[in-house]
Parts: sequence; C-alpha cells; structure tokens
Amino acid sequence: MFHLGVGRTRSFKGYILFHLTYIGIYLIDKLFYNGRLKFPIDDFEENPLYYKFPSKEIFHFAYKYYVGHVKEEIPVINSTLYDQEVIPLEYEIIGEISFHAGGDLLPYAKFTKQTCENLWDEIGSDFFGGDIVYANLETPINLSHPRVNCPEMMVGKILFNGDPEIFDIFNGNNEYKGFDILSTSNNHAFDQGTSGVISTIKFLESKQIISVGTSIEKGVEKRVKIIEKNGIKVGFLSYTYSLNGEVVPLDQTNLINHIRLNANNFDLSKIKEEVVFLKSVGVDFIVGLFHYGLAYQFFPAPHIKENTYRIFEETGIDLIIGNHAHNIQPVEKYKYYCPLERREKCSLVAYALGDFIGDDIFDWCTMSMYLKINIVKYKTKDSVETRIKIIEPKIIIRTEDKSSGKLKLCFAEDVFMHGPKKYNFKNLHIQNYNSNKSLYTRFKNMYTTHQ
Ligand SMILES: [Zn+2]
Repeated sequence: MFHLGVGRTRSFKGYILFHLTYIGIYLIDKLFYNGRLKFPIDDFEENPLYYKFPSKEIFHFAYKYYVGHVKEEIPVINSTLYDQEVIPLEYEIIGEISFHAGGDLLPYAKFTKQTCENLWDEIGSDFFGGDIVYANLETPINLSHPRVNCPEMMVGKILFNGDPEIFDIFNGNNEYKGFDILSTSNNHAFDQGTSGVISTIKFLESKQIISVGTSIEKGVEKRVKIIEKNGIKVGFLSYTYSLNGEVVPLDQTNLINHIRLNANNFDLSKIKEEVVFLKSVGVDFIVGLFHYGLAYQFFPAPHIKENTYRIFEETGIDLIIGNHAHNIQPVEKYKYYCPLERREKCSLVAYALGDFIGDDIFDWCTMSMYLKINIVKYKTKDSVETRIKIIEPKIIIRTEDKSSGKLKLCFAEDVFMHGPKKYNFKNLHIQNYNSNKSLYTRFKNMYTTHQ
C-alpha cells in the first residue's frame, strides 16, 4: 500500500485514519509551528495528565506517534557498555547469578495461540535460561473482563486488558521456566482500575511470578521485592512516570508506584526509603525497574539523563532497567559518589529495551533487546562486594512466515548477518528488511560498543 509516513496499518479503516492524522499533523506543523514539531521540547514530561489542549506539547506527542521519530541531537553518553567495571584480580567468588531482562510485553491482536506457536523457538531457551528472568508487563490482566488489545490507531483513551492466552504467549508458551519477576507499574497499570491492579497481582501469584511496582497492602516492605539465589540477595523496586492521565484515588495510592520520573525535581523520597529498607535487610544488589523516558526516541533526552544521574547520586541503586520508549536506547555506565555507602561507585542504566512483544505501527518497533547480566558477590582482603561482571546485549527481531502467518523472535545477528545460511527468506517476512538492517547495525555499533 502507498504510505505517506513510516508507519504501517493493517485494516482499511486504520489506513484512512492514519493518513488523515498524518496530513492533519503535517498541516498543523507547517501552519502553526514553522516545521518545528519534529524537534524535541526541552524538559518534556510527556504525561497526558498535564497537557493543555491545544498546545505544542500535544501536537509534538502526536507527531511522534503518527509521523515518525523526532530529530535528536546525539547526546554524549559518559561511557558505553563495553567499558565495564573491573573486578579486582585477587578475589574469592561467594556467589554468582545471571539476571536476564527483557522489554515491554504488550497485548496486540496479532498475538494468538496459533500465530505464536513458534514465537520463542529461537531465543526461548537462552532468554528463559537466566537465574532471574524479568520483563515489563504493560497491561493489567483483569480476569473478569475480556481482553482489550492495543488498537492500530491510538485515538482517545487506550485501556489495555490481557487474558490468560496472551499471558501464556508472553511467558514462553509454558515451554520454559517462564518469568521470575515482572514489573507492573507502567503507564497502562491503571487501565482496568483498582480491580485490574488487584486481579493482575493475584493472577501472577497463581503463576508463582513475583510482581513489583503494584501492591495491595501498604508499607515500604510491600512495595519492594527480594529474590535470593546462589547466595546473592537482589532487591527490586519499580516506578512509572505516568498513568496516561488516569488518577488513582487518594486513599489507594499504594496500588501503583507512581512518581513523576520525567519531571524536573521529582520527589525521590519513596525510592530512598525503599533503598534504605532493602539495605537494612541485607540486600546485596538493588535493581530499579523504571518506566520512564520519552517514547519513539533513540536517545534519552538531556533531562531524562539528569534525572537518572540524580537517582544514582541520591540512592546508589546498582542497576536501572528503563522501559517505555518502544525502541532500544543506549546502555550507560555512571560513576559517582554514593552518600549511603560513602564511596565512589559505578552503576549501570539501560534506558530502554524496546517492545519485547509488541506490534507497533513503526517498522523499527519489531526490534528489541534483552540483556544478560552476570552479577557476582566476591570477597577481597577487606570487603565483600556485589557487582556486575559481564553484560551481554542480545538484539532480537520479530519475523513472520509469509504463508502461515506464524511469528518468531530471532536473533538480529542471525537474520541480518547469517540470514541466507540460516533462514529461508522466500518464506520469511521481516518488516522493511533494509531499514531494519541498517538500524540494527547502528544499534550494534553505537549503543553496545565503545566508540
Ligand atoms: Zn509505556
């Protein structure tokens, strides 16, 4: 089909709506904003609760969702993935664990039992093979309501709901161990209201999966989760920057961990309280799972980086896994002085891992990344420490069999570098092969290696 923009839609109605929106935004941009809508807005919080209508913020947001990525300046990233912490040579390992982290899990009509039968065949045993396996569950699962998928054109309120069928797909079709922990605080957490939050927590409990970021009971010890494996205690906390304009009743704020993470000078006191609590119960390593940042941008905006550095400098969290951008963003190492541990330390942030399971209108959203993070606890002459030893990024892309419509997550390296040997491309559909291939090369070179 003919396309004005870089997006793609599936139905005729979606096609018409997409192009009308595209033309509308194009005209608004030219007539009222001098062609500036594609450029980032300083300190943009991207939180619908605080938009005024009409405003440059809302049109810029619409531009990103229907026209394309914003024009970004490439920010300076202090140090990249391969410039990693060096563990002293003389040490004795006490414990070692692998933490595998994936991106957003989103409900789309495309994902059915039939189309996803082979979804995990290529990557499942590697991804689910970690000691602690994590992703961000970006939908409530309210069992008393039917499934609601993400519409192909996001117009008006979008209220997701998952069901056991889509959850089994997310969880590796029950062919692997499945997830150990899922974050449930994100901008869709309140899509099904209070009953949706509670139902999701109980549903995950029934599957023996830990949820973090939403809680039925009050108190700091309920807001955090701890997993102990191989002699290492890992603490998890999770927050979302927005609830898409939904407001949790004041007497139920314990339900969702919500802080305006994208705003300047946001309140860090709850995160600090959680870190202090986790350290008081002997946790060795703390992971912050934050749903924040700006959507459809390849780099974290300057204020998002500043907010991240502030979290590190005031709390000393060891690792931040970010999500929400719908595409891969860089991984960065940050050195600072930690006031709680009273020492120089080094933490790591993965700003966004992309849509792990999703079917967004843009071609690049079929590509995402999971991280294999090796954490070691070791003893030196005078201290015991827990640090990241190795971090291995795995870029993946979703492919579709042309004749059967079956979907499969594949390693991008295999598809783009060893494709003809490994796959039969006659039957394999990869959305916009060439642009995704060049994007893959860009991700690989720019984000995951030393420049
Ligand atoms: Zn999100």
